[in-house]
Amino acid sequence: DVPGLDEKLETIYDEVLRRNPGETEFHQAVHEVLDSLGPVVAKHPEYADRAVIRRLCEPERQIIFRIPWVDDRGAVQINRGFRVEFNSALGPYKGGLRFHPSVYLGIVKFLGFEQIFKNALTGLPIGGGKGGSDFDPKGRSDGEVMRFCQALMTELYRHIGEYTDVPAGDIGVGGREIGYLFGQYKRITNRYESGVLTGKGLAWGGSQVRTEATGYGTVFFVDEILRTRRDSFDGKRVVVSGSGNVALYAIEKIQQLGGTVVACSDSSGYVHHEKGIDLGLLKEVKEIRRGRISDYAQECGDPARYVTGESVWGVPCDIALPSATQNELNGADAAVLIANGCSVVAEGANMPCTPEAVRAFGEAGVTFAPGKAANAGGVATSALEMQQNASRDSWSFEHTEQRLASIMRGIHDRCLTTADEYGSPGNYVTGANIAGFTQVADAMLALGII
Ligand code: GLU
Repeated sequence: DVPGLDEKLETIYDEVLRRNPGETEFHQAVHEVLDSLGPVVAKHPEYADRAVIRRLCEPERQIIFRIPWVDDRGAVQINRGFRVEFNSALGPYKGGLRFHPSVYLGIVKFLGFEQIFKNALTGLPIGGGKGGSDFDPKGRSDGEVMRFCQALMTELYRHIGEYTDVPAGDIGVGGREIGYLFGQYKRITNRYESGVLTGKGLAWGGSQVRTEATGYGTVFFVDEILRTRRDSFDGKRVVVSGSGNVALYAIEKIQQLGGTVVACSDSSGYVHHEKGIDLGLLKEVKEIRRGRISDYAQECGDPARYVTGESVWGVPCDIALPSATQNELNGADAAVLIANGCSVVAEGANMPCTPEAVRAFGEAGVTFAPGKAANAGGVATSALEMQQNASRDSWSFEHTEQRLASIMRGIHDRCLTTADEYGSPGNYVTGANIAGFTQVADAMLALGII
């Protein structure tokens, strides 16, 4: 049910389908990028001649490994670990690790593929990669998480390095997990190689603003969109799905800029809190107690509606920030948002909107900012962490936040300029895909057929 591609691109897409059977999320991510590249291949035959797009669609290296560990009952558990080193034309592979039971090769490849273009858009010297495991952290003790992380790193350490591949967090991987992973890397290699992982704690080589960066960056990006309309967050109603790291800090920045976040969610349900989310309580429930949105809804003083079995996108808003996970917002959700007058949708998560939803936003004139542009603040701040590690320096919160804000402004402007240049004014999808692609493609051309 997806509209057709240009003939040359169709052939490339068919090859991807044939080579990667069953990896539907990867197919979706590739199709979405190829769909923007028609005008690029028309203008630049050298990309086709040297098979740049075909090479881009095939990861440089894919590592799959066994992760054996012992749980608190003494039983041996086996999980599967992945690291897809997708493209290193612009710098060392860079991208997070995801711990979630849904993780399989197709998810890691979709995320790694997105990461190539996202990282290119930041303008910083980082290639694209992604990894993770089907390990489910839910209900696991701190000791179990530590032993699992140590077992994972016992294999992963041989594949990564400051100049090779630099993992970080993603869903299910935060500061605690990065700590256990870094500790095991240090123990095995006997090297205090700070630049091998990002998202580290502030006392041991981490960067200010890294925790906040993805959420803050997404809000900075939307702020730029609003600025083009001479508007701002002041007085806006916003729905942010999710309640993980991205959502929490998106909510924080929206509130600082005068917006009201009226709903957020987790995998079980959502809370509709008309007066605005109590961020202090939400952080306490989610970050300290590792609790649920239902706990938040029960404990917040004001009347708040906790709803299960319904989509959070039914809550009326001016701005929607899907910040939970892939394909969480479908065509039907998009229709409801449009009917309720939502005018901006920006992806805090990776690929949270289905192709049908994205098409509906386009047809309705809703401004849509794709994740590879809007959520690039996290990985951009990881690159700033690498810079600080390489120079054995640490920057202030203010300085780092300013760098993040200016990087997001740069990405926003590059998207618009590129969209204009290729005949799709105002289209952030076209702009992000083409600007990210040409940056990587030109580097690949310069480096030869490798
Ligand atoms: N997982 C994040 C992303 O999706 C950040 C990865 C990183 O900092 O390397 O971009």
